Amino acid sequence: MSDCLFCKIVNGDITPDIVYENEAVLAFRDINPRAPTHVLVIPKKHIPTLADLADDDTQLMGEIMQAAKKIAEQEGIADSGYRTVFNCKQDAGQEVYHIHLHVLGGRPMQWPPG
Ligand code: 5GP
Ligand code: ZN
Repeated sequence: MSDCLFCKIVNGDITPDIVYENEAVLAFRDINPRAPTHVLVIPKKHIPTLADLADDDTQLMGEIMQAAKKIAEQEGIADSGYRTVFNCKQDAGQEVYHIHLHVLGGRPMQWPPG
């Protein structure tokens, strides 16, 4: 997807602050962090929203969650705790239509979200 911001990051056209990468996923710091740690984990494959997941994306989604676990350890928030969020479409406030897992930590979080 040539017009997708996160595909441009995967392709190397835009260089973010990368914190983790493997064959399937890439993780980088959010440009507008909402917590001391705010990392986005994305699949390298373009998937617009959670509603677009294919049956064979199950392994890939597991890769994203496993990456979040490793990033939390790297960032020193594995013990204190952290929040993981996928925003899906308008009502959730999704801005970038290439799925991404927010990993937020380093401060206490409120619940429910606004
Ligand atoms: P969403 O609202 O779609 O769940 O989250 C999109 C996130 O992407 C936002 O938290 C926003 O700050 C972040 N973001 C938008 N553009 C860029 C960018 O160019 N680089 C990085 N690192 N993050 C971005
Ligand atoms: Zn994309």
